[in-house]
Amino acid sequence: MEKSILNNSKIFLSTQTKDKNFLASHDLCIGIDKDDNPKYKEIIVTIADVVQTEATDVQATIKEKKDVKKKVYALKFKEPYKPYILNATIVRQAIEQATGTRVLNKWIGKRISFYVKPNEKAFGKLHDVLRVRPTAPKAAVKGVCSDCDGKIVDVEGFTAEQIANGSMAKYGRYICFECGQKLKNQKSVTEMVDEMEETK
Ligand SMILES: [Zn+2]
Repeated sequence: MEKSILNNSKIFLSTQTKDKNFLASHDLCIGIDKDDNPKYKEIIVTIADVVQTEATDVQATIKEKKDVKKKVYALKFKEPYKPYILNATIVRQAIEQATGTRVLNKWIGKRISFYVKPNEKAFGKLHDVLRVRPTAPKAAVKGVCSDCDGKIVDVEGFTAEQIANGSMAKYGRYICFECGQKLKNQKSVTEMVDEMEETK
């Protein structure tokens, strides 16, 4: 069903789907601001593979709605984020710029940043769309938090080394314990510590 397409000389872009198994702007939502607009975080990921796979989409006909399978091209990541369907030329070009190459198998191991651009016009409507920065994320310096630029220090029960290694394994960047807690909006601090513990 899923196969790596790293040896392909080129890939074609996929069409849009609403399959929830793939990364979308709402996956980066971290709440709502005072004007009821969604707030988004930025994520840095390491490309692990480029695959041809299937996504479910809803085929709306006049009388019925039914699920259909569509062939898609997707990026997979080392960090525990959903795969991302390559469906916009602007994203593909941004990845080529951020990684410095158009050759797919050279994308492996490269880091890219996803962010959400609000109110983009697409299909005649305004959407908050997922985009990739056309620049490489800045090189990680062990011991310095990528989010707040603060020093990563020991906290009760954990050394700075454990926190740095745990955050790199989980988020693809070094982050301090405090910023790690902020990122874990869906999970408790205890779970985060457990996960850091597992990856140390
Ligand atoms: Zn921090």
